[in-house]
Amino acid sequence: MTVTEIRPRFQDVSAKPAASSPNVLFRTRVAVRHELAPGFIRLTVQCPELTAMAWHGLDQRIKLFLPKGPRLPQEYHAGLSERDWKALWRAQPVETRPYLRTFTIADARPGIGEVDIDFFVDHAHGPASRFAQSASVGDELVFSGPLGALDHKRKGVQFVYSGHAEMLIAGDETAFPAMLGIHRQLPESVSAVFVVQAGSPELASWMGERLAGRQVQLLAEPRQMHEAATHWVNTAERTSAYAWFAAEHQVIGDLKRQFSVRHRRVQLQAQGYWNRRGRAALS
Ligand SMILES: Cc1cc2nc3c(=O)[nH]c(=O)nc-3n(C[C@H](O)[C@H](O)[C@H](O)COP(=O)(O)OP(=O)(O)OC[C@H]3O[C@@H](n4cnc5c(N)ncnc54)[C@H](O)[C@@H]3O)c2cc1C
Repeated sequence: MTVTEIRPRFQDVSAKPAASSPNVLFRTRVAVRHELAPGFIRLTVQCPELTAMAWHGLDQRIKLFLPKGPRLPQEYHAGLSERDWKALWRAQPVETRPYLRTFTIADARPGIGEVDIDFFVDHAHGPASRFAQSASVGDELVFSGPLGALDHKRKGVQFVYSGHAEMLIAGDETAFPAMLGIHRQLPESVSAVFVVQAGSPELASWMGERLAGRQVQLLAEPRQMHEAATHWVNTAERTSAYAWFAAEHQVIGDLKRQFSVRHRRVQLQAQGYWNRRGRAALS
């Protein structure tokens, strides 16, 4: 396990509000690169403007910008609103515009302008996992996230807790940062089952340990997600139940069909986090 660290302290900086969307660009630098577990890399990034970012925890997402050239053009400046960065991005030829990838904020310390992002990198590498694998302290990482002053609707959070008595939280390695965020904020009184799917037994048990105090089921294969969900639905009381799923697109598609046809009483939040069919070369 390797840890490289520099932690400068920032003074509080109030970023200027953007026009309409709460999302703006943050131009951060890698301060720490830490191998959390086999196949999982944590990057801690910093910039003064992060003291003004909205941080809700749970499954809050951000959009990373990975440049195709050596660095992201200066036009993508700190504080640029979502409307403006989208216009800029769409106007660029596909050969040069940055790759966009969605990730979860694993943890944040807005008081000192710091955010942690956990990358699962144990697969055919795309730009985001390549960046995490080779990142060094001082490297730039730009992302779009919500500015606190404008974020009245918890932008980027999909998990909804509204008093459900029973819950199923299920996902694979890429969903694990979000699952941990939910675990941290979910009242202990809620009867929640966490279903974790991981390709390696070592990683599965590491993930299970981090969910201490919860009912956890570890799965080795994505197709077992379907069986685990069926079992939960059949054994839960389902007076007021909520299921949250995140995994590969096809797996999620099957689960959505299963719930929309057979388990309509369960409130469902499900999203494909990655696609085994891959992407077009430059997207
Ligand atoms: C809301 C949301 C939150 C997310 N949060 C996180 C997070 O916190 N941490 C995290 O690691 N991921 C997270 N993901 C998933 C992440 O965005 C994808 O895994 C993404 O494809 C990684 O980008 P890349 O550039 O490395 O690979 P890509 O360029 O997208 O893909 C390259 C190749 O790798 C394959 N691939 C991608 N992911 C996997 C995988 N998990 N297993 C096997 N093969 C894969 C693709 O099929 C493709 O062939 C999240 C996704 C969403 C939608």
